[in-house]
Amino acid sequence: MDIGQYIEIVLGHPKYGYYVTRDPLGQAGDFTTSPEISQMFGEMLGAYFAHQWMNLGSPARFTFLECGPGRGTLMADMMRIGKAFDGFRQAVEIHLVEISPVLRQKQAEALRGYGPVWHEDVSTVPDDVPILMVGNEFLDALPLRQFVMEEEGWCERYVDYNEEAGFHYINASSRDGLERNITCAAEIGDILEVAPLRDVVVQELCRKMKASGGAALLIDYGHIKTAPGDTFQAMKGHLDCDVLEHIGEADLTTHVDFEALKVQAEKMGAKVSDSVTQAAFLNLVGIAQRAEILRAKATPAQAEDIESAYHRLTDHDKMGALFKVIAINYER
Ligand code: SAH
Repeated sequence: MDIGQYIEIVLGHPKYGYYVTRDPLGQAGDFTTSPEISQMFGEMLGAYFAHQWMNLGSPARFTFLECGPGRGTLMADMMRIGKAFDGFRQAVEIHLVEISPVLRQKQAEALRGYGPVWHEDVSTVPDDVPILMVGNEFLDALPLRQFVMEEEGWCERYVDYNEEAGFHYINASSRDGLERNITCAAEIGDILEVAPLRDVVVQELCRKMKASGGAALLIDYGHIKTAPGDTFQAMKGHLDCDVLEHIGEADLTTHVDFEALKVQAEKMGAKVSDSVTQAAFLNLVGIAQRAEILRAKATPAQAEDIESAYHRLTDHDKMGALFKVIAINYER
């Protein structure tokens, strides 16, 4: 099977899939995300979206969409800030795209009182009202395919299995000519990643926002320019492990090619920002000021936590530089 089919089954198999069977987040889980590190992350995004809502003319009804909402922490933190703006609470309808029944349960608890509506994928999200959309570490969980440059040109990488070797890679000439879309210069042995499903999700989102206006923020591990490189990785208990081992027990991710996202969204007629680092984005929306306000009201121990969370989210050797943010906008 190609890498994309492998990722899809390992993460999303209806009975054994990694995300379907557990809550992977936090100390006891396999990885920690920005909203789980500090409430400041969601609060800054809440302020950003409240501002976007006003830019759209404070519509009396809008869809607040989150894809891959994890424990619902980000949406709950965003709503705490959003609610402070006159009319926002009355106008909002929350929609969540989530495949995991375990996480849907956590989201229901975190968002009790808001009556969120769940979807398997973006295709069923309503587009008769403006859409504000966020995805943090969502695109990195979607399937992607890898091509390896060999003497005869690009060959697709497949996952194979036999009793002797167990799970292993083989490279073979590709079935559907996807490699013809690859225009990036490469040397023998280089690996290039292509994510057709991410393109489909971005197109679908854009189509919906185009109908009634909207604003989206996509945040992920990734690179601003398309470049060769193998970013396929697995994580279990906060440690890296082999992507072909601990199947269904370890998280699989790949870095997001933000140039590819930008190209897709621009093709759909959206206004698209340059991609920036998470540090640049959070500082621009005022996280340093927010940290100061929280610190002023905190106990010394809490103040230390706030300080360390601020650094974890924004320092370049922590999450500040590896994570990128891109904004997609449609006027109403
Ligand atoms: N955004 C959250 C969680 C990130 S983990 C946070 O920042 O804490 C990835 C999330 O995407 C989980 O909620 C997972 O269940 C969900 N997910 C993974 N693959 C998905 C898919 N194909 N469709 C919808 N949701 C998916």
